[in-house]
Amino acid sequence: MDEFQTVIGLEVHVELLTNSKMFCHCSTQFGSRPNTQVCPVCLGLPGTLPVVNEKAIELGIKTAIALNCKINDEFIFVRKSYFYPDLPKNFQISQYRNPVAENGYLTVGEKNIGITRIHLEEDTGKLIHDEQTGIWSCVDFNRSGIPLMEIVTEPEISSPQEAENFLQKLKRLISYLGVSDCIMEEGSLRCDANISVKRKSDLKLGTKVELKNMNSFKSVRRGLAYEEQRIIEMLKENRTVAQETRLWNEALQITEGMRTKEEAHDYRYFPEPDLLPFKIKSDLIERIKAEIGELPNEREKRFQKEYLLSSYDSAILTAEKEISDYFEKALSYHNEPKQIANWIQTELLGLLKEHHTKPGECKITPEFLAKIVKMVSQDKISGTAGKTLLKEIFLTGQDPEVLVNEKNLIQITDTKEIEKIIHEVIEQNQQAVLDYKSGKTQALGFLVGQVIKQSKNKANPGKVKEILQKKMNE
Ligand code: ADP
Ligand code: ZN
Ligand code: MG
Repeated sequence: MDEFQTVIGLEVHVELLTNSKMFCHCSTQFGSRPNTQVCPVCLGLPGTLPVVNEKAIELGIKTAIALNCKINDEFIFVRKSYFYPDLPKNFQISQYRNPVAENGYLTVGEKNIGITRIHLEEDTGKLIHDEQTGIWSCVDFNRSGIPLMEIVTEPEISSPQEAENFLQKLKRLISYLGVSDCIMEEGSLRCDANISVKRKSDLKLGTKVELKNMNSFKSVRRGLAYEEQRIIEMLKENRTVAQETRLWNEALQITEGMRTKEEAHDYRYFPEPDLLPFKIKSDLIERIKAEIGELPNEREKRFQKEYLLSSYDSAILTAEKEISDYFEKALSYHNEPKQIANWIQTELLGLLKEHHTKPGECKITPEFLAKIVKMVSQDKISGTAGKTLLKEIFLTGQDPEVLVNEKNLIQITDTKEIEKIIHEVIEQNQQAVLDYKSGKTQALGFLVGQVIKQSKNKANPGKVKEILQKKMNE
């Protein structure tokens, strides 16, 4: 294994979050009835003319800025000719030599992974095949013409795991910017992965294999790992690796050949005659830069520095913009970053995941979470009570300060009251007391438990332990 080196480059397609399509006014709403969001332009009827959606261009530029790219002041669209049953004009309006932007990078861990280019194009319709009979196919043109952005990386990714990490980072960035919702299951983020393996001593890159049809980050990693092994086996046996496109079979967890280089298409790119070259106005880039504000990588670093969070904690808290915003909002009510971070990670994120809810839609507002954390840290309520409150407020949205009284959860910290309960417990559990006195220290835990139980979970465990110990050592 050590003598080989893996080289991976990704081509990522992202559907842009615009209200209307790339070259017409049709809606981009996902999940509508087939062929209800179509017009002569996106159906490719003869004689229609495309009009560029400037919002899509702005989103492309926004991404380009965030990926440290050089933005071209003037770019053109081209026709990519091909027989597309799902794009009936038989060419796709895309970009080739003069894309929106080139030469950027994305930092993943300690490494900058080069971005070759970013280009804009239109999505195709969707073919729906009858899997039972295999006889008929239907086509839904709702997706046809949805703005699509392609991000191409340099062949600089060195392992399947790094490819997955790159995609995670890219997804975070793009959804952070509001450029796309990046839902892989809905096809708004799609990825083709190119992989080759060479002997370390070789200067030239190996022959690449392109992998398609992966619908989760995990399958990208697994597909690449499978292909990496397959190619290494071939190299060990001195067999030639064919340049081909392969499909990842999710059910069987293997890759299967789809087409070889000989079948590669000649797309006969030429400038789209119905669209003028697009010139970027000078103030546009400045305006978009101002809109972007703090990028997730920067926010992650700031969380470490400003709130003294570990790199692990700050990575989780910046995984989504809504979570970062939630965290900082909660801090404005209770400025204890480590405590708030812990409660978000161990309790809130679990609840959100379990109920498929987003932080912004959650009934536990940042203020409510902060109130609970504060009450726990001040020993007003126990940690267990705090967790119970959280679960209840998740469903009802009640103010924790009201609920805490309603449910009578305020902890007993009053020494006299605790002493009274301890007295009763000692009376009832003479054997445990004797055990403790004869050196069985674990009996103390039992007695503390009994006191807390008798107090209906309201006695503060620290206090109980302290008083109990003192009493028995008398
Ligand atoms: P093509 O012309 O076949 O589309 P490109 O040169 O445009 O190929 O590259 C497409 C993608 O494949 C890019 O992400 C690039 O980084 C990657 N790539 C190119 N050559 C290799 C290689 N030898 N090994 C791995 N990835 C590669
Ligand atoms: Zn249309
Ligand atoms: Mg290419």
